Amino acid sequence: MNKKRVIIIGASYGGLHAAKEFNKKDEFEVLVFDKKSFHYLQTEAYDFIANKSNISDITIDIGSYINKLSPNIKFIKQMVLNFCSQTKTIQTSSSSYTFDYLIIATGARTNFPPFIKGLRENSNGVKTLFRALGFKQKFESTIYEYITNNAFEHQRDYNIIIGGAGLSGVEIAAEMAYIIQTDFTRLGIRCLGFNITLVDGADSILPGMDRRIIYATVKRLKSLGIHIKTKSFIKEVSQNELIFNDDNKLPYDFMIFTGGIKAEPIASDKEYKLNKFNQYIVDDFYHIEGEESIFAIGDVAQITNDSQIVPPTAQSAEQSGSVVAQNIIRISKNQQPQKKLPIMRGMFIALGGKYAVGILYDKIVIKGYIAYLIKKVITNFYKVFLKP
Ligand SMILES: Cc1cc2nc3c(=O)[nH]c(=O)nc-3n(C[C@H](O)[C@H](O)[C@H](O)COP(=O)(O)OP(=O)(O)OC[C@H]3O[C@@H](n4cnc5c(N)ncnc54)[C@H](O)[C@@H]3O)c2cc1C
Repeated sequence: MNKKRVIIIGASYGGLHAAKEFNKKDEFEVLVFDKKSFHYLQTEAYDFIANKSNISDITIDIGSYINKLSPNIKFIKQMVLNFCSQTKTIQTSSSSYTFDYLIIATGARTNFPPFIKGLRENSNGVKTLFRALGFKQKFESTIYEYITNNAFEHQRDYNIIIGGAGLSGVEIAAEMAYIIQTDFTRLGIRCLGFNITLVDGADSILPGMDRRIIYATVKRLKSLGIHIKTKSFIKEVSQNELIFNDDNKLPYDFMIFTGGIKAEPIASDKEYKLNKFNQYIVDDFYHIEGEESIFAIGDVAQITNDSQIVPPTAQSAEQSGSVVAQNIIRISKNQQPQKKLPIMRGMFIALGGKYAVGILYDKIVIKGYIAYLIKKVITNFYKVFLKP
């Protein structure tokens, strides 16, 4: 049988969902590439930082997962350097491979806008495991330093700033505040003078989200003692001070930046239409501009639903991955591809300890321990599905 070869670049939420669709579809040979050997569960970074989980809980070994699937699907741990649409080839650091269909699922990294002077050098991130680990270790040593030097003397305040009040910034702020408020108090250590400030240029936190979710989240963040500073644009970050566009200053000891993403498209023989976040602008079938057999899914694509841009989430990455793979299978059977845009089934935000706020199908808002349990069920279900 003349097998069609599908190449998937990126083995994370999007890429692995696409790969799974080809299970037992022996008419396809599927090569999944990733520069890492593990899939980093970014959605669980908040638990990792809070010491409730370790590296093995927030990573999935890609090779072991792919080995669970049928032998027509293979994992190749190599970084893809570029692709050529003319020759239908990808080039890795050591070889080149031809494809019939290409799925780009290379995700995104934290965007440190270069016009914010000093931002990259002076702030921490969580978008890669390496950065999350570095952040966790720094946060712990910061607290250690604080309790050994300052806690009982109350010499001065200790300021933590989170730049960017989107989903990840809010979750991390809440988790840090919760650790400081509860865990250290439980140990008999009074962490007085620890200030956490969430900064964002938008009018509110969680821009674009349902008003009820924003309201419930603000309430929870305030109860954790978090200061919220919206409509505030950062101009510069020095070693210990944040300078805003209006020249107001905010001293800090520790800074995290989660203020946006920059997609990671792959170099190619042609230039494709990208948006300001470097995401491929795709059509309703996730084709990149002018290509019939090259697709982009997940965070590396600007996905729209009824002309509305869909926020980059694990959910939309998974759904776009499945849809593209199903459509490739349909095309091979001479069936029409189906236009299926991501549906936000629900969104749950962890807000410190066993507390979350969430919404189901844009209708039902759930708060507190129940919402936390639902979030855990969703993430555990995902892990069970992927664990070897
Ligand atoms: C702290 C935090 C909390 C979040 N919480 C939620 C949440 O609660 N719910 C939710 O839905 N979303 C959440 N998100 C967003 C979610 O994690 C992303 O939307 C999701 O990871 C996107 O998946 P992806 O498959 O498109 O890309 P990614 O997960 O970014 O994966 C891309 C993969 O491509 C690989 N790769 C990149 N370039 C190359 C190359 N050249 N060659 C080979 N391999 C390459 C990378 O190694 C990586 O494995 C959160 C994000 C963060 C940071």
